[in-house]
Amino acid sequence: MARSQQCAASGGCRAAAPTVFGKDEDGWVRVIDPHPSPDLLEDVLEARDSCPMAVIDVYDAKGVSLV
Ligand code: SF4
Repeated sequence: MARSQQCAASGGCRAAAPTVFGKDEDGWVRVIDPHPSPDLLEDVLEARDSCPMAVIDVYDAKGVSLV
């Protein structure tokens, strides 16, 4: 999940996980794959950790936040 209202449109998440994060017409983050395969977890966590606004939250299949 990404809180797009607080996105700074840096594009870091798209660079880290381009099949999971995209952008809308204004450049704000848009999650294009809300349920990525487990082999993308490392990329998604990198996107979360590198987000300068810390607006990406990652949850497992049971809805538990991965911190
Ligand atoms: S890394 Fe964070 S601030 Fe940058 S585009 Fe993605 S969600 Fe927005």
